[in-house]
Amino acid sequence: MDQEFKNELRDKVSEEKSGLSVEDGKHVLLSCSNCKMDLIDIWITTPEAKIKFKMRAGCAFCGDTSFSQVIEGGFHLGITENTKISEINTLDDEDVQSGEVDASYMIMTVDGRKIK
Ligand SMILES: [Zn+2]
Repeated sequence: MDQEFKNELRDKVSEEKSGLSVEDGKHVLLSCSNCKMDLIDIWITTPEAKIKFKMRAGCAFCGDTSFSQVIEGGFHLGITENTKISEINTLDDEDVQSGEVDASYMIMTVDGRKIK
């Protein structure tokens, strides 16, 4: 058994021990393409669901946006320590029209540090 394989195995075991397997799904963080602030935490909870979304977040700090990210499966939207969600807009863009994705969303954020 080589060292690399051992490490892989150990990682796998600790992942299972901490209960972070399927239930945790996968997190995709949308960060601003300009100021790099973390804006939205997308938690994919049902990756087996046959749905595809395009997500993009509007930055509360500089007015720019994140890059678009394609998400497959069911998900929950989470805030970050800096942001809260102000609104979610459905976009009718070319990827929706061509059937490439099922829906396209622009998630607008506000500066969550100001809201107590
Ligand atoms: Zn920004």
